[in-house]
Amino acid sequence: MIMALIYGYGYRYYYDPTYILVLIGVVISLIASAKVKSTFARYNKRQSASGMTGAQAAERLLYAAGIQGVGVTHIAGNLTDNYNPSTGMVSLSDSVYNNSSIAALGVAAHEIGHAIQHDEGYGPLKLRSTMVPVVNFGSSLSWILIVAGLVFGRYQFLLNLGILMFCLVVAFHLITLPVEFDASRRAIELLDRSGILYGDELKGSKKVLKAAGFTYVAGALTAILQLLRLIILFGGRDRD
Ligand SMILES: [Zn+2]
Repeated sequence: MIMALIYGYGYRYYYDPTYILVLIGVVISLIASAKVKSTFARYNKRQSASGMTGAQAAERLLYAAGIQGVGVTHIAGNLTDNYNPSTGMVSLSDSVYNNSSIAALGVAAHEIGHAIQHDEGYGPLKLRSTMVPVVNFGSSLSWILIVAGLVFGRYQFLLNLGILMFCLVVAFHLITLPVEFDASRRAIELLDRSGILYGDELKGSKKVLKAAGFTYVAGALTAILQLLRLIILFGGRDRD
């Protein structure tokens, strides 16, 4: 609908050369998503010698870290694993919860890495959590402001406000990077120290987490490209 409105105001998406920025973002994201799926599938075929499932490993790592009040639960879907700081729940997906592959254990430990970050009051996670409510509507609000700015005859103040809103979205994507990389670093350390994985197994697990990390890099890049496009299309030029 918003696209149609903008189109109506003369911003022809079909011939808009900045659309290439959006396409680059889409391609990078598709590559990242394909890469994490194929890497997970590859190391999902390899069972760990410890034979622990993702859920068992998660419980054990929480216990070892002395973290209380965090639960481990099952969530439907694929690669939907997450830790929710507000509910204190580690949710593990179909292919992780009941699975003892080195890929599954890597993902499970990564989510425990987030729980430990939360427990320790890790700065970037705190900042990220505070930003969630803003960013949830920031992206749509940004477009609403931009459309409003165009409706009122390229009202630059609203356009700039819209662009500023989108800067917050970009900032959110950027602050996600240290949170994710740190959780993966912790995961490998936890798996190693606890003996849940060892030797060669850790390398495979690391590759899965690295591929997962790349999807966040792709997300950040996509957001930056979108911001760049907004600046090119609607940035602070005066009306002529
Ligand atoms: Zn994560």
